[in-house]
Amino acid sequence: MNILVINAGSSSLKYQLIRMEDETTLCKGICERIGIDGKYSYKTMTGYKVEKEADLFTHKDAFDVILHEMVQGEGHVIDSVNEIAAIGHRVTHGGDKFSHSVLVDEATIDAIANMRDISPLHNPPQAATIRACRTVFGEALPMAAVFDTAFHATMPPKAYTFAIPYKYYEEHGVRRYGFHGTSHRYVSGRMAELLGEMPHRLITCHLGNGSSLAAIKDGKVVDTSMGFTPLDGIIMGTRCGSIDPSIVSYIANLENLHERGMNRLLNNESGLLGVSGVSSDFRDVLEAAENGKERAQLAADMLEYQLVKLIGSYAAALGGVDAILFTGGIGENAMGLREQVMHDLAYLGVTADLAANNSRGEEVRISGADSKVEVWVIPTNEELVIARETVRLAKQAKA
Ligand code: ADP
Repeated sequence: MNILVINAGSSSLKYQLIRMEDETTLCKGICERIGIDGKYSYKTMTGYKVEKEADLFTHKDAFDVILHEMVQGEGHVIDSVNEIAAIGHRVTHGGDKFSHSVLVDEATIDAIANMRDISPLHNPPQAATIRACRTVFGEALPMAAVFDTAFHATMPPKAYTFAIPYKYYEEHGVRRYGFHGTSHRYVSGRMAELLGEMPHRLITCHLGNGSSLAAIKDGKVVDTSMGFTPLDGIIMGTRCGSIDPSIVSYIANLENLHERGMNRLLNNESGLLGVSGVSSDFRDVLEAAENGKERAQLAADMLEYQLVKLIGSYAAALGGVDAILFTGGIGENAMGLREQVMHDLAYLGVTADLAANNSRGEEVRISGADSKVEVWVIPTNEELVIARETVRLAKQAKA
């Protein structure tokens, strides 16, 4: 059984076709600059690869191109669309409505689109993408929506409520939702498999362009660092993370900025980029720091410091910590950052295995044999979670 997994942004679309019998990726790629000029990549497990410019005026054009490559292209991996059993879509915001993955019908697509108030950047384009996908692949093909917020739905009110007038929660849904849930879910599940049981108190650190931490008790999220939107929490590539909220009105007055301008400043011009003045990419920031650029060093130090501080506060929330794990582009690759964090967590009884930590993108325990806390690197695989969820729902629908 093959499952197509779709992760769409407003101008990009990542896809992956997974054969579920052995959970192997048959092909994958990305369509970019949709609605601008358009280019795409297509790669198969047998080593066939294309990267092309193409007229991708809409997401429908992107789906047409993907389907053509998969079925008829030189590197085709299936003979007909009928060999795709179902499609799974990553959806950013499930709000209060979706605490689990669901099969997609018209009402679901409307509900996803109608969350535009709380998720203006992500939900409307994702709803439109699901519609375009149904047009290309046909309405009979089962489709699932898997929400980035869903895994965090177990948070208690004391963790998800903001201390502002309560009516904004009741009437407008303003609360902490958390994101990257599919990643936190995959790595925590994998941790349980590796250790033979789910750690009682686990802290998962997803560190990429966007970053978030989750405090997980017996497999259930009790707190997470992203909030009402993905802007909250730890310093990110271009997002500011947690700041004093009154800075918003102060800078808005100073620069005569309104909602859109402030959103751009905090989402796209802040974080590692804003502080370092060099780049949003952590590799560039580290390189600049090594070359003596002080603000790049400051940005890197802030990331490490905020990480240690947040892990400490989650250890307090959980009443201690049994396991910590790193994932995401930075978490899986930045060995120096991990070493420093483990060093700074010595007070929790963390010791490091520096030889094991000297690795990139691998599933490995990096804490020492005498460490009181298991520390691991676990590469994330959100697509696999989406594919498994899609299979589960498609089977349920058939039964
Ligand atoms: P996204 O959140 O867009 O999925 P990723 O999870 O791929 O992003 O993470 C991208 C981040 O990972 C970038 O900041 C990049 O610099 C960082 N990264 C990738 N490789 C390394 C490395 N070897 N050392 C440090 N950071 C790295």
